[in-house]
Amino acid sequence: MTSPDRRSVLRAAAAVATGATATACTRGGADLAAARAAAPTTPRPASPRPAHAARPPTRAPGLPAQIAHGPRRGDAVALTFHGQGDPKTATALLHEAERAGARLTVLAVGTWLDEQPAMARRILDGGHELGNHTLHHRTICALPEDEAYAEITGCADRLRSLTGTIGSWFRPSRTQYATDRVVRLARRAGYPHVLSYDLDSLDADDPGAPAVQRTVLDGVRPGSVVSLHLGHPGTVAALPPILDGLHRRGLRAVTTTELVT
Ligand SMILES: [Zn+2]
Repeated sequence: MTSPDRRSVLRAAAAVATGATATACTRGGADLAAARAAAPTTPRPASPRPAHAARPPTRAPGLPAQIAHGPRRGDAVALTFHGQGDPKTATALLHEAERAGARLTVLAVGTWLDEQPAMARRILDGGHELGNHTLHHRTICALPEDEAYAEITGCADRLRSLTGTIGSWFRPSRTQYATDRVVRLARRAGYPHVLSYDLDSLDADDPGAPAVQRTVLDGVRPGSVVSLHLGHPGTVAALPPILDGLHRRGLRAVTTTELVT
């Protein structure tokens, strides 16, 4: 449950822009995990229950093993985030999304989850989706097979421990597209699809909020899967105008699962 007090803390945190440490997904990084389940039914004050369940890996029949975008004829897009970095900055970003009714997808680095285990629950409690972005955010496509597999399962284990599932999606680290071998390893680990993207916001280079906003709004179209990063103050500042711009174009920011299923 997210208490009013905690909301106040999160609101305060939104004003704090610190700790941009994550590197671009194509060059470096790490990710996060999900949570437990419970439908928001009759309130039972004595036994708080999580409002949002962690989803198992999404299966989208008819879609390829590697997904880079959703339907082009719809009105939805997915904003997907490398999950790593300062938790106050990450929480501020989630808060901005929630104020606008947007839902995000966070692909968490396993070591970040070790450092910030509460973030898994926080992400799910906001109605967002949580996935696997490898254990250490190494150049996964260049690793020996056993090490690449361990990178996938290492993050999956942390997600399962924190949330009860291995997360909705797997996104490879330091690459836009997985090799066939990494796609196969991800399937072996339990992920029917690998999540790529078709629009890079370039936010990890910290070009400033106006540049991030412009890159996203110039390139976005129905079905886009946009790559962004937690832990970057410029991305936090860019999110409200990005969401405003999407709204003006009749587009909605939804979870990746909602986008493709
Ligand atoms: Zn990344």
